Parts: sequence; structure tokens; C-alpha cells
Amino acid sequence: MSVVDGLVQTFTQREGPDVQLRVFGDEFYARYETLDGFVAVDDDMLGYYCYATLDEGEYLSTGIAITKPTPNGLDPHLIESVDVRSAKLDRRLSAALPPEAFASGAGRPEVFGPNKGLLTGRQANKGSVRGLTILVNFQDVTASITPEEVSTLLNSEKQKPFGNACSVREYYSAMSAGLLDYTNEVVGPITLSGKRKDYVDTLLAAEALNAVVDMGVDLARYDSRKEGVLDAVSFMYAGDTLYEGWLWPHNHFLDWKHGGYKTNFYQISSLGLRTSDLKIGTFAHESGHMLCRFPDLYDYGRRDEDNLKSAGMGVYCLMSSGNHLAGGKNPSPICGYLRYLTGWVRDEVEINAPGDYVLKHGDYGTFYIYKTTKPNEYFLLENRSREGMDAYLPAEGLAVYHCDILGSNEWQGNSADRHYQCGLLQADARSSLELDENTGDAGDFFANVPGDALTASTTPSSLLWDGSDSGLRIKAVSAPGAEMHFTVFVDDKANG
Ligand SMILES: [Zn+2]
Repeated sequence: MSVVDGLVQTFTQREGPDVQLRVFGDEFYARYETLDGFVAVDDDMLGYYCYATLDEGEYLSTGIAITKPTPNGLDPHLIESVDVRSAKLDRRLSAALPPEAFASGAGRPEVFGPNKGLLTGRQANKGSVRGLTILVNFQDVTASITPEEVSTLLNSEKQKPFGNACSVREYYSAMSAGLLDYTNEVVGPITLSGKRKDYVDTLLAAEALNAVVDMGVDLARYDSRKEGVLDAVSFMYAGDTLYEGWLWPHNHFLDWKHGGYKTNFYQISSLGLRTSDLKIGTFAHESGHMLCRFPDLYDYGRRDEDNLKSAGMGVYCLMSSGNHLAGGKNPSPICGYLRYLTGWVRDEVEINAPGDYVLKHGDYGTFYIYKTTKPNEYFLLENRSREGMDAYLPAEGLAVYHCDILGSNEWQGNSADRHYQCGLLQADARSSLELDENTGDAGDFFANVPGDALTASTTPSSLLWDGSDSGLRIKAVSAPGAEMHFTVFVDDKANG
């Protein structure tokens, strides 16, 4: 999923010239404003964007084109009522998951992970998974990128394709410590029957899949589990990312069947127009939802009964806003919390015993964990020095995550009943992520701390969310580097 907060994009109109609009929202609910702040809606009858007014809390076209002067008395930045927004959100959410998951109420794709921290639904997170990636052109937009080039982006080894840090396959191989081999066969491009604008209101998936079947593609190749299910279907469409309707990058459930095979989850994102546009960030992010059922670790601002926006894990995780690092060409790693949940564990080092510990950078299969008296709540430590996949982080050093699979990254309250499921204990004590001040800054990790770094009485502290003492004490944190050292100790005062 993909959040946009005020990005200016160019939109085509059925009748009339292209217009620029400012976009706020995500694939489930969005608002579009003119550059001077008046809400615009695409008027189907007229074929162009018109100023909107509110009618019983819902946007209604005034019939006046946004290329004309603003109507007298119209207020800027109109917001639909909570009920209208919720109803629109629910309509879209109901399409995101298998009907049974949505009906049970347990499967809403929110920030809260209802399934032991993960989203509900079928996982394909280990072993060999062969995905099907379909390239899509429109009658009016065609990319000059070949399937071979996209295959290089997704599957190549040691090539740093098109300026990316690695291919998608290499990314997932590193993150899973070799437990997931995710490859993609690239077919197409398919040229769809309509113009790009036509696929804002109509999902292109079925038309593209039917075209692939007509080409004689053998679907059995993409049923890695031999369950009659296509494990990983991806659509990449020509042109820049369009933050509108069904072209907004997303991961949803799709009910499509052919010859004994059916789809399950799919993802869609943009391809760009030329090879310099090729980047792995958003493809990898949507793959994380699709294969592992990772929840987003950012904060939409209006989910899980919370209406405030915050930065969640910021740029420090692929599943927060880390997919955009280095223009999407060097996305952040998947943070240790999500890798732990999905079971990419080669070795687990419990740091509950006092002692000196060494944390290697990039050893993604080894987990340093401090367990607490609560099975749902624990601390994970990672070496996030500025090297390898962490090369573009704003901070470097020892990262400490306070994890609670019953939390939600929608809940920025830092309180007993409203806290993140994975929160970064920001060493500078500013809680900039929770306060939505930035998506990461130089003071977020621990480094070069000769004395106490984290105890029950530091800020941030190692207290549990209910305010009780977890017992975790860390001191003597080394400088950043390929190996970081720290000491876990027992506090004599606290423990008698
Ligand atoms: Zn997402």
C-alpha cells in the first residue's frame, strides 16, 4: 500500500487538457485538490474535473470546470464526513481480501496485524516461489522497456540492474537469509483495449490475465505449491505511478479462474516509460504484502479507530516508507520485527543473560531478542550501520525495536493500550516518528554510548507498555560498523 500526502500529479481528462492536482490519501481513499486548495472531482457526465461542494457530507460536482474561476463562496480543503469516508473505505476494503476474511471482520488490511502480527491470508514466504509478472501497455501509453529488461530487474544476480542496489530476487534472498527464492517470469507486454484513464475505475487484472491465457502461457508454472493457486501475480503498467483508483499501487485479492487454476493475491505497480525508471522499491514492498502478509508499518492516519497520522517505522523498514529510499533503487531492508514474524530465522540469540554481545551488520538470519514475561511483547536489536542495504539511512548504529504483536502502527500514543506493534526506541528521546516530525533523523539509533544507553530510567526506556520493568539494561554501545558491541547488564539497584 502506498500513501501520498500532497503530491502534485498530472491527470488526463476525457474532455479537455491535462490538469495538475494535489493528491492526499492511499489506494483505499483519496482526496484531490487544485493547486490553490479546492477539492476536485472527476465529473463522469462532463468528462472533466470540476470543483466539488459537500452534499450531506459527500463530495458533489458543481459542474464548473476547475479551469474556470473558483465559484463564489466555495471553501477550500473540504473534507467528507467521517461516515461517508468510512463507507467509501469499506467498499474498497471489501475488495482487498477473500470474501470470507472480510466477512469475519478479522481480515481487514489495516496496520494492526490480526494474525499474530501479520495480515490474514495465504502465505508463500519460503522455498522457491515463481511469480508471474505481466507487463501492460495502454492504447495511449506505451513503455519502451522489454520483458528481458524487467526480468533483469527482478531476477538478475550481481548486476545491480539499472542502478538498483540488487534485483528483487537478491533482495528477498538476503532478507530471508536464503529461505525464500522469489523469481519472476515476465510476459507481455499486453496492450489493453482501452486508454490508461479507463483503468482508473476498472481493474485491468482480468483483461490482462485473459490475454496471457490467449498467448498460451502455461499457468502451471506459477503454482509453486501445486495447489491450483497462482502464488504471486504482478502487474506492471506503462507510465509513471498514477495515484488514482485501481492504478494506485496496491496488493489485493483477486477472484479469477482458468482451467483449474485460480489467483489469490496480486500486486500492481507502475513500470515507468524507459529503463532508467526501473526500480525495485515498490515492487518489493507490494511483494511483502503478497507473499508474507506483512502489514504496513506506517500510519495511514485513520485506521484502527485512530485519526492521527504519524511516521510509524519511517524509512527504516521496506513496509513503512523505506521503499522510496534512493528513489526506490535502494529500498530499506525489511526490519527485524517483520522478518522474525514471517519465520526467516536461522539463529536466535537471547540477550536476557548479562554479557558482552557482538552484532554483525547484514546477518539477516540471526535475531537478537530480549524476551519479557509477556509472550506478545519483546525487544529486538539490529545493527543498522550505514552500509550494504542500509547505505541510505539518515541514522546509523544499534536499533532497538519495542515489539508487541497486539499493537498497531496506527497507534502513535506510546501508551499502555495504544502503541505501535513495532516501534523504534529513538535514542535522541524525541519520538519524532510518533510525533510525525520526520521519517527518520540522525539521532534515531544508539552509537558511541560509553555508559548506560537503555534502562528502566532512561528516555526512551526499556519499560514494558504497562509501565512495569522489563529488566533490559544496555550499556557500552560501540561505534557503528560491520560489527557493533554492547553490554547487557543487571541493575543491582533494581534487582537487590
Ligand atoms: Zn503497503
